[in-house]
Amino acid sequence: MSEPVNNTIFGKIIRGEIPCDKVFEDEDVLAFRDIHPAGPTHVLIIPKKRHIPTINDATAEDQALLGKMLLTAAEVARSEGIDQSGYRLVINCNQHGGQTVYHLHMHIIGGRALGWPPG
Ligand code: 5GP
Repeated sequence: MSEPVNNTIFGKIIRGEIPCDKVFEDEDVLAFRDIHPAGPTHVLIIPKKRHIPTINDATAEDQALLGKMLLTAAEVARSEGIDQSGYRLVINCNQHGGQTVYHLHMHIIGGRALGWPPG
């Protein structure tokens, strides 16, 4: 069965229907700046090929893709110059996690000291 059309805002960004401030792209992932940054650096990494609404929907076949997202995050942190000062990687899931866009994405937030625990 083919994938349902991904009508989330991130699906539209992948298809070029709405613009983004792109940081990195290859055949698997797209990284772009968050429109409401939570810090001096706030980049989102999303998978391009398969529509995975939440991390709950990832399967064993997504194992390499999930690893790719993490390695890409570390590379983006280096290119943004926040790898040594530090940063946070976040995947929000469903209501209590604060997820608002139902296309799997990882936040890279840095450029300032972040509080813990999160609110
Ligand atoms: P979530 O809350 O689902 O973990 O994160 C969704 C993120 O997407 C939010 O930080 C929000 O600011 C960002 N966002 C929502 N719409 C857009 C958009 O159209 N463009 C960009 N670049 N970011 C968006």
